[in-house]
Amino acid sequence: MTTTYNIAIDGPAGAGKSTIAKLTARKLGFVYVDTGAMYRAMALYFLRNGIGKDDEKAVGEACEAMDISLQYRDGVQQVLLNGEDVSGLIRTEEVSQMTSAVSVYPAVRQKLLQLQRELARTEDVIMDGRDIGTCVLPDAETKIYLTASPRVRALRRFKELEERGETCNLEEIEQDIRERDDRDMNREIAPLKQAEDAVCIDSSQMTIDQVVQAITEAAMARGLGNGR
Ligand code: C5P
Repeated sequence: MTTTYNIAIDGPAGAGKSTIAKLTARKLGFVYVDTGAMYRAMALYFLRNGIGKDDEKAVGEACEAMDISLQYRDGVQQVLLNGEDVSGLIRTEEVSQMTSAVSVYPAVRQKLLQLQRELARTEDVIMDGRDIGTCVLPDAETKIYLTASPRVRALRRFKELEERGETCNLEEIEQDIRERDDRDMNREIAPLKQAEDAVCIDSSQMTIDQVVQAITEAAMARGLGNGR
């Protein structure tokens, strides 16, 4: 019997999942697990080793050769690829596109599934991704589907890049986001979709605090704080 409390957050790229999940985790004293970072670390390995996104056989073999793990420093998740902290190298557009291209393969998904489930079995987690409520943690106590319009998501990303001093184009960002959503939602295995028992939150017109509050209330309505 599980003694942990798990919150699953799924949703499309740029919906604010990681910002929201991080803050909610801090507020509730949960561990935040960013599964996208794990997929990104795998994509980085393929890029570094010249493995093409269409070469499923080579991708499968490479899965066996790599080790992905997480560690937490001052409560912040770091993703390790064969022992190397690659957290600072996985947020580029090249890695984003490679990640969504290779995350369609069973070998890639299988590699991370047990690790993700094990974390949720041993800790109270807020885990975000694309298939958490539907596949990874079907019994999660609270499931959230966090979304926002493509334009709002592109704008948020645009501002983020601008603040980092990177030149960017809003139309291109929106196009990349739409392409990635399309692949994530239409792949055969573990596509992004709202779990039947998930609470849908559209954050287009909400502040970050309002979203954190909505998730906290959803969790409390599902037994959090009630001896759990
Ligand atoms: O959440 P993030 O944008 O970092 O995820 C990068 C990509 O990783 C997604 O576009 C998706 O293709 C893949 N992913 C996935 N399943 C998850 C998390 C991420 O397929 N649980």
